[in-house]
Amino acid sequence: PASDAMALSKKAEVLGIEYFLVSFTDLFGAQRAKLVPAAAIDEMAKNGAGFAGFATWLDMSPADADLFAVPDPSTLVQLPWKPQVGWLAANLKMNEKSVEQAPRNILCRLLKEAQDAGYRIKTGVECEFFVVNPDGDTIADGGDIQDKPCYDQMALMRRYEVVTEICNAMLSLGWQPYQNDHEDANGQFEMNWQFDDALKTADRHVFFKYMVKSIAEKYGLRATFMPKPFANLTGSGCHTHVSLWRDGKNLFFDSSDELGLSRLGYHFIGGVIHHADAICAITNPTVNSYKRINAPRTTSGATWAPNSVTYTGNNRTHMIRIPEPGRFELRLADGAANPYLLQAAVLAAGLDGIKHERDPGTRCDFNMYTDGHLVGDVKRLPLNLLDALRALESSELVAKTLGPEFVTAYTKLRAAEWNAYTSQLTDWERRNTLDC
Ligand code: GLU
Ligand code: MG
Ligand code: MG
Repeated sequence: PASDAMALSKKAEVLGIEYFLVSFTDLFGAQRAKLVPAAAIDEMAKNGAGFAGFATWLDMSPADADLFAVPDPSTLVQLPWKPQVGWLAANLKMNEKSVEQAPRNILCRLLKEAQDAGYRIKTGVECEFFVVNPDGDTIADGGDIQDKPCYDQMALMRRYEVVTEICNAMLSLGWQPYQNDHEDANGQFEMNWQFDDALKTADRHVFFKYMVKSIAEKYGLRATFMPKPFANLTGSGCHTHVSLWRDGKNLFFDSSDELGLSRLGYHFIGGVIHHADAICAITNPTVNSYKRINAPRTTSGATWAPNSVTYTGNNRTHMIRIPEPGRFELRLADGAANPYLLQAAVLAAGLDGIKHERDPGTRCDFNMYTDGHLVGDVKRLPLNLLDALRALESSELVAKTLGPEFVTAYTKLRAAEWNAYTSQLTDWERRNTLDC
C-alpha cells in the first residue's frame, strides 16, 4: 500500500496513477489546475507547477512573475471516477514567498495561529446543489414539480445513479458520508459527510464540488452550487458546523447549559455575530448570493436562509442555530463561498469573539419568517454585495487576520463584479421605467 512518506511518483506506481492534477483555488473559488504526468511529479512537487496569476481570479498583472502551485502531498485523492488521475491541492508561492492573497495559504496560516493558541477547529459543511440541464436554465428532472419537494422519494430515486456514484466515491475515500436527500427546491439535493479538521473539510469541500460536477456531467447533467439559481425556489446554502477542540475534548460542550454550549462557544458565536457584516462578502460572495439571503418570503414563509444577525436553539430561521449540544450551525454561507476563505473568516471572527469575550446577546426564538417584525431592532445582514464589500473593506479584524493583501485583492475583484452587474440594463427596469 501507498504510505504518506512515499514520493508521489512511487505512490503513482502503487496506485496506478498516470497523471496528477495539481490544483489550486483562486479568490472566487474557481479551481485551476495543471495535468502533470507521473514521471514529472516529484520535480513539480518540489518547485511547484507554474501559472500566470493574472489569468485567474487573483489580483495580479501580466507584469508579475510566475505563480507556483506547490501541491500538499497529504491531500492526494485518486479520482474515483477516473482512477488514473490523482488530485492534489496546492498552496501558492511567488518569488519563493508565500502568496498572501491565496485562499489556502490564508487558511493554513490562521489554523497555525489557532493551533499555537491551543485550539483545534473542527467543521462540517452541508453543500446544497441543483441538478440542471447542460444549458443551465432548467431543472433536469421534468417530473420534479411538487410544491413541497423536500425529501421527495421519487425525485431522489430518479437520480439514484448519480447520487450513489458520488456517495460511493465518498465511502471509498473514507469521508464517512451518512445521508443523501432531495432538498427543499425542485431539482435540489444535499449529500452529507462527517465533520473533521477545518483544513481537511475545506479540501474536501473543494473536491466535493469538482466531483459532483464531474459525475453529473458523466450522466449528461449539470450540477450547480449557484446560491439562487431560480427566483421562486429556495437557494443553495452551505451551512457550516463548528466546534473547537483541545486534547480530544470538545471545548464547546457544557452539559450545564440549557442548549449544551459552553461559555467559550457563546463567545465564539459572539464574534461571528459581531463581525457578520464584515465576513458576509466572503460567506456570500456574489451578486447572486444576496438574492438568497434577502429573498422575499414565499407564502409558506420559508427560504431557510437567514436575513437577520441572530442566534437561536433548534430553529431554522436564524443566522446561527444550536441544533444540539457542543456545536453550532452557521446558516449564512452559500454554495459560491470559497471553501478556504469560508473557514478562515469564521475562525477569525470566532477567535476574536473568544479573545474579547464577546457577548452574543440574548437568544432569539421567534420564527423570523413570520414574526420577525415582533423582534424589534434586530441587526440585518447586508442587502447586497456592495454593502457587504464596504463592511469587509472597513473591517480591522479582516485586515488583521486574513491580511491587507487579501482585502485589497478581494475587494478590487468583487467590486468589478458589482460594477459589471450594475451596468446591466434589465428587462424589469425597462418595463418599470419606460413610461415614467
Ligand atoms: N436551502 C436552504 C438555504 O438556503 C437551507 C435548507 C436547509 O435547512 O437544509 O440555506
Ligand atoms: Mg439543507
Ligand atoms: Mg443544515
